[in-house]
Order: sequence, then C-alpha cells, then structure tokens
Amino acid sequence: MKLVLASRNRKKIHELRTLLSKFFDQPEILSLDDVGITEEIEENGTTFEENALIKARAAAVSGYIAVGDDSGLTVDALGGDPGIYSARYAARCHFAGDHDDEGNNQALLQNMKGLPEEQRGGAFVCCIACVLPDGREMTVRGEARGRILESYAGNGGFGYDPLFYYEPLQKTFAELTFEEKNEVSHRGRAIAAFAEKLKEAIGDV
Ligand code: IMP
Repeated sequence: MKLVLASRNRKKIHELRTLLSKFFDQPEILSLDDVGITEEIEENGTTFEENALIKARAAAVSGYIAVGDDSGLTVDALGGDPGIYSARYAARCHFAGDHDDEGNNQALLQNMKGLPEEQRGGAFVCCIACVLPDGREMTVRGEARGRILESYAGNGGFGYDPLFYYEPLQKTFAELTFEEKNEVSHRGRAIAAFAEKLKEAIGDV
C-alpha cells in the first residue's frame, strides 16, 4: 500500500509508517517533496476536518491515495481554544514571550490562571482526511480527553504534552513512552480508525 501524506515533516511520515504497519504490510508513505509538490498549502479551514481535507485534496493531484491531518488541543473553558490555532496560539494571543511551543504553553497557562481543577478539562483532537484516486473522500477523528495542569510534568513528547494530564494512566502525555502515547493518543486513535476505513475502501493491498 502506497500513499502520500500532505506533509514535509520526516517525523510525521515516520510516525504514520510505524502506526500503519500494524494494519498494512510494509506501507510506503511518500511526502509532498517525494511527489514533487513544492507549493505551500494554505490551511484556511475553520475546523480540524476542513484543514485535513484541504491538505489531502492538495496532495491528491499526485494521483496516489492522499492523506492530510490536522490536530490540536481544545480546552472547554476557553470555548475550544487553542483549537485549530494550537501551533500558533502564543502569536494569536499576542503573548509577550516567544512564539514557540514554550510560548504556546505559557500563553495557555496565563489564559487558564486561577481556574479550578474541575474547569481545566480539554481534549487533544486529530482529524485525518483521505482522498482516493477515484475521488472518494473520507475523514476520521480521534480524541483523547484530559486535564490541563498548572505546571509542567515530564520531558517527552512535544507541544502541550507536559501540561496534558491523562487521568486513566495518571501521567501527562510528556511522561508516557512513544508506544504508550500512541496507544491512547488522539493521533493513535485517529490512525487506527483511518486504517480500518482505508482497508474497507481499498481492501488488503
Ligand atoms: P499538527 O496539526 O499535528 O501539526 O498539530 C498542531 C499543533 O497542535 C502542534 O503544533 C501542537 O501545538 C498541538 N498538538 C497536536 N498534537 C499534539 C500532541 O500529541 N501533543 C502536544 N501537542 C500537540
């Protein structure tokens, strides 16, 4: 099975290959660069689903099975923010510090300051969209619910992981191993759901 992921991020390509190998025999995952798509894809959707579809459609010009994903953190008390702006939350909030992962986390802590534990709920969300060479389109969504801590715990993962406490394992996502996180994460769940759907759609190739 061969597909193109609408990304240039080697880590993401490797991750998808690893996770899909549980469902397909030696899946081949191409990047946008591998298929000669050099232009930037404008992510101007208003939902995770829309952005994932925009990316998948852009990659579909390659003629391969095309996949796009979009993910982020939604916090109940913030009306769903950072949401689709998760990667650039600090900039969006005009946060005074750096506009990187650390800045995003600090901006989040600042905006949630003083909220009691029961109001700190949220979810990581991952949407995967796929466009098949015959034009069929599908989307799946994976979620992991947790609570936003008031300070960091753990050194693993990336992004908001050190602040995201996952009750069933009593750890933050930054305290989980790569394998543990994949078992329960929004992305792991979305990829598993996607693999099932893709199998139904194209068979066991
Ligand atoms: P992307 O759509 O996968 O590139 O994710 C967008 C942003 O959402 C990232 O830059 C992170 O800020 C946040 N995010 C998505 N998934 C995770 C995760 O598994 N852990 C921590 N942050 C995440």
